[in-house]
Amino acid sequence: MSVMKAPENTPVWTDESRCKACDLCVAVCPAGVLAMRYEPHSVLGAMITVAHPESCIGCQECELACPDFAIFVADRKEFKFAKLTDQAKERQQKIAENNYMVLGA
Ligand code: SF4
Ligand code: SF4
Repeated sequence: MSVMKAPENTPVWTDESRCKACDLCVAVCPAGVLAMRYEPHSVLGAMITVAHPESCIGCQECELACPDFAIFVADRKEFKFAKLTDQAKERQQKIAENNYMVLGA
């Protein structure tokens, strides 16, 4: 298994060739960073999207939850993550209520 090189100045990134669109990472994110977008060419018709990278707090919950090693979080030594805000928590709530699909799509 090859390890993806960390992109510069990016808190969280994905390997779409591995994502099975299971929603687990979206469900565990506390900060409304992740969501699924419609993707007709993928197996389940959806694909992971990092919709709000600026809100990522670096908790690594998404990376730990993903069964397919398809999402990665930057090292705390290499990226200054955001603090968890009420706005981010509210967005997460709305994403959950939207069946984990990206808001406003
Ligand atoms: S590291 Fe935490 S805040 Fe950032 S996308 Fe993953 S679960 Fe969300
Ligand atoms: S947990 Fe992994 S496989 Fe599931 S949607 Fe997230 S990135 Fe894709």
